[in-house]
Amino acid sequence: MSLVSSHENRLLLETVQAFMKAELHPHEDLVDRLGEVPLEIGRQIEARAHEAGLYAANLPEEVGGGGLSLEAKVIMEREFGKTSHALHSWVARPTELLLACEGEQRERYLYPCVKGEKRELFALTEPEAGSDVMGMKSNARRDGDDWILNGSKHFISGPVMPDFAIVFAATGVDEGPRGSRKRVTAFLVDVGTPGFDVRDGTHCVSYRGYKTFQLSFDNVRLHQRQILGEEGKGLELSGQWLTYGRIFVGASCCGKAERLMGYATEWAASRKQFGQAIGKFQGTGFKLADMATELRAADLLVEDAVRRANEGTLSDADISMVKLYCSEMVNRVADNTVQIYGGMGLMEELPIQRLWRDARLERIWDGTSEIQRHIISRAILRPLGA
Ligand SMILES: Cc1cc2nc3c(=O)[nH]c(=O)nc-3n(C[C@H](O)[C@H](O)[C@H](O)COP(=O)(O)OP(=O)(O)OC[C@H]3O[C@@H](n4cnc5c(N)ncnc54)[C@H](O)[C@@H]3O)c2cc1C
Repeated sequence: MSLVSSHENRLLLETVQAFMKAELHPHEDLVDRLGEVPLEIGRQIEARAHEAGLYAANLPEEVGGGGLSLEAKVIMEREFGKTSHALHSWVARPTELLLACEGEQRERYLYPCVKGEKRELFALTEPEAGSDVMGMKSNARRDGDDWILNGSKHFISGPVMPDFAIVFAATGVDEGPRGSRKRVTAFLVDVGTPGFDVRDGTHCVSYRGYKTFQLSFDNVRLHQRQILGEEGKGLELSGQWLTYGRIFVGASCCGKAERLMGYATEWAASRKQFGQAIGKFQGTGFKLADMATELRAADLLVEDAVRRANEGTLSDADISMVKLYCSEMVNRVADNTVQIYGGMGLMEELPIQRLWRDARLERIWDGTSEIQRHIISRAILRPLGA
């Protein structure tokens, strides 16, 4: 991809590739088979990530991070997309939301995450409020200088049991031009706080070994200073994270598609039926042509989003286009790769079926394809008053 034009970015790419070859790829089969990352492997990945300068590389140097540019982060996420989230998430990229920490919050949450002493969760989704974030039932009411939090969250994911969660909860109602709207506030909630329960959630067949957690809050008493950012501004805060998160999802889908393309191409060139390589049959060769074309288009969409972000012109619809197209592209590429492999594509011995399962999640998390289409279509129609 043309983002890798500078010397620094090329070096970063080589570092990530070497790291993945040595520290992540060797564990893929084991982790998928076990459905978990053995703790000693996870801790080893963390330690080696520190040595390689990749741990918290996404955060600015002022807070102890690696200070990567947006281009560099996209290059890194594209590479990581080639392997399992269960593994590369041990190379922590703490949520940039933590940069909203102020004063003592920085010592307690931000810096420990940068150093690898603490892990966070981003807790927005609820059993009855997925796409419809405003349907959230979690709420916090004021009690003097404290807040009392009640509710639950599910599908909250991470590599390992966290130390704290950034929890979004309704703290009131605002009246606006389009009627009343929940005020949503982000709270920093420590594991171990009375009334806060975190437990392993259900197991996902995509990225086996990447954990989801269920969180519940039963009259959890929080101090005012556990609010992240401003009271009532939680959605604005989460929006900042989702912006770049969706571009990173797009980039990682491109990485995964490139890996799949590699397998599909090799198989199409070497597998023979009816006396010739199956790639010579138009039904197979044209699939490869479509896959290569779509991957190029997806990479260009990611690059375009990076350019727009740097220019300050990136819109929500631009971001949704990246997330929508890249995540659907990798699923078509994965499906075509299974098809090109025939029966072998579904055999556990080969990584194709794993990448195909992994790709499926990309159309769901960070906002489903339907939600991305909704955002894009609203941007088209709203100016016409529709
Ligand atoms: C493995 C995994 C990890 C996750 N990690 C996290 C995390 O760390 N933190 C977090 O907060 N969340 C996390 N999520 C939650 C994820 O973001 C949600 O699953 C996603 O937003 C969809 O919500 P839902 O699953 O409740 O589906 P629903 O919202 O119930 O949607 C079901 C279907 O209805 C469609 N639909 C809903 N509304 C509309 C509409 N208005 N128009 C058209 N179609 C619609 C959807 O597109 C979908 O097809 C994770 C999920 C998974 C599976």
